[in-house]
Formats: sequence, C-alpha cells, structure tokens
Amino acid sequence: HFEGEEVVGDPLVDAVARIVAHADSTRRLMVRTNADTADDAARARRFGAQGIGLCRTEHMFLGDRRQLVEDLIVAEDAAGQTEALAALGPLQRGDFEEILTAMDGLPVTIRLIDPPLHEFLPDITDLSVSLALADTKGHRKKHERKLLDAVQRLHEQNPMLGLRGVRLGIVIPGLFEMQARAILEAAAACVRRGGDPRPEIMVPLVGSVRELDLIRGRIEQVADEVQADLGQEIDYKVGTMIELPRAALTADEIARSAQFFSFGTNDLTQMTWGFSRDDVEAAFFSTYIEHGVFGISPFETLDVEGVGQLVRTAAERGRAANPDLHLGVCGEHGGDPHSIHFFDEVGLDYVSCSPFRVPIARLEAARAHLMKG
Ligand code: PEP
Ligand code: MG
Repeated sequence: HFEGEEVVGDPLVDAVARIVAHADSTRRLMVRTNADTADDAARARRFGAQGIGLCRTEHMFLGDRRQLVEDLIVAEDAAGQTEALAALGPLQRGDFEEILTAMDGLPVTIRLIDPPLHEFLPDITDLSVSLALADTKGHRKKHERKLLDAVQRLHEQNPMLGLRGVRLGIVIPGLFEMQARAILEAAAACVRRGGDPRPEIMVPLVGSVRELDLIRGRIEQVADEVQADLGQEIDYKVGTMIELPRAALTADEIARSAQFFSFGTNDLTQMTWGFSRDDVEAAFFSTYIEHGVFGISPFETLDVEGVGQLVRTAAERGRAANPDLHLGVCGEHGGDPHSIHFFDEVGLDYVSCSPFRVPIARLEAARAHLMKG
C-alpha cells in the first residue's frame, strides 16, 4: 500500500488512516519515536510521531567515524582526548541540527552516548594477527600497538554490565560535555534560522542520583558557556533513563535532579531477571515458554508482575518527589500493544517506538484509554 513512502489512494488504507486519526482524539498517551537520523525522524513524523523519545547517539559513531572513536580510546592523556573530542564535536553538531530540524516544534530526547564498549573496540584477535603480520613501519604500526594495549586494558567479561552509559561519561571527562555542547549549539543554530528546537538531554544507565548530579552539573556549566559565547538563551531539559532496579527504587531522589524519566525497559528487563539481552533468547526461552514460566519473551511484552512493578514504583515515587516530572518509555515495549495498556494504566505521559510502530501505538493507546474508562 505504499508508493515510496506515501500512502496511495487505497480505500482500505484510507479507512485505516481515518481510524488512527480518530484514535488520536481519544488517547491520553503521547506517541514518540526512537530515531537517530533525520530521515527516520521525518518518516516517523509522517506516521504521526509527536517527537523523539530516544535518539541513540552511539549509532552516530559507527562507520567512517570509528577511526575518531579509536583515536579517543588510544589517547594517552587528557590532551589527546581533548584533540579527539574536538574532531567529533562539529560532526555531532551537524547530526543534531538535522534531527532537531526534522522534528521542529516537537521534543527530541537525545541520549548521551551509551555504547557497550565491545561494539566499538576492534576484535582483540584480529588486531593481534594484523599486528603480527604488519610489515609497515612507523606511525600505523605504532597506532595499532597502542590500540591493542587499549583494547587489552578495556576488555570486559560482561560489557553490558561494564563501562557503559553514565559510567563512561564520568570516566572520560569531556565526552558528555562535547555532546552537550553540540546539542546546545545545534539548538541555538535552529533558533537563529527561525526554528523551534526542543532538545532534551538524557543521561543513560544511572543507578545513583550522584551520577546524575555530576553529569547535570557539567551540562549546566557547558550551557552557561555556550549561552555566554553566543549571547543567546537556549531552552533545554535534562533527564535520565530509568533502566536499573536501583534507579527505580531510588526514583524519589533521582526525580529531584531530573526533569524527565524515560524507562529503558530493555535493560530493566535484563537487570531485573538477570537475563543477558544478547544471549538468553536463543539459549532457553523456548524451553521456558514450553514449561509455562512465561508465555512470551519478557523482552517483547513487558513482564507486568516483575519489571512492571519497578516501573510503577519509580513513576509513583518520582512524581511524588517532583510533580512536574515527565514520564515516558523508550524500550522496545513502547511499541508493544499489550505493554502500552500497562503504561497507560501507570500514568506515563508517552511511549516511544520505532517509526513503523507509531500508527499501531496510536491506536493501542486509544484502546487502552477506552478500555480503562
Ligand atoms: C533500554 O534499555 O530499554 C533502552 C531503550 O536502551 P538501549 O536499548 O539502547 O540499551
Ligand atoms: Mg538501555
């Protein structure tokens, strides 16, 4: 039913479009999208997305830019790190300007980099082999040796429980600051062009309010500098993901330091069950389903009795401590019909899902509201 990406005049498609539009007048939950590129943002907007709930900035460091990330990783001192970050800053500013423009007038939640480190580090065996075979002399070989040292130093047995998210931002000073500056400068440029950018800076994998306070302080310092340099006020929000059980249980403390929470139910499911996101589905989920431990993978449909109770607790404690707190979900469950009913029930403000799930989420949010009511 699609020609390019435009719906062509099929009566059934037209009818569905009208039903979804009708659902919009019924639902309470807002529907945002998960998008990391201006193309995805524009596509989701055509499907009715009301903003971006998750822009995963680590995806912007792949491809040609890996080399710049390697430079950052092998930097031997603060000066080397500063140099590597200086090369990344303008590229990020361009990325954010494009995304903010595509979502002009709507909120854009940009998550500071949250890479499982192993996805960025070259494979240790490949690197050792290529070094052993290298017949080149001088700089390239020296670079590879430094890289091998860094990879050995940073190697983790459990990267998903390792140096990720806010931990990386604390350990590499300047990294989150580079991104915050790029976001704020991009927003300022949009305003100068007559736009209405609404950036929301999101800190990943927070487990303690002290982590958030530390990073929020650095973001505010960067914002002061950018605003003074440009002579321009910039509107932005700072919030956090809630994706660790500890964050959910201390949500009242965290809420006093945040303007919004976004539930990362992928990690929250992993951390609550103790299931590795990367390994378990193939290993034993079908046996578990056969034995009725659960009917469907909890990574697909929210485990309401367990993980859901952490969401509910965090929403209640967070709102009690900060009545202005905005609440959303950006894990895969944000686009799952069954889970959407639960998010409506616990009073979240929005769900965020992949662009192609936006129409379904709009419909289901309306059904959830009607069925409750
Ligand atoms: C999550 O954990 O639910 C989340 C949205 O973050 P990511 O999937 O990128 O870890
Ligand atoms: Mg996560």
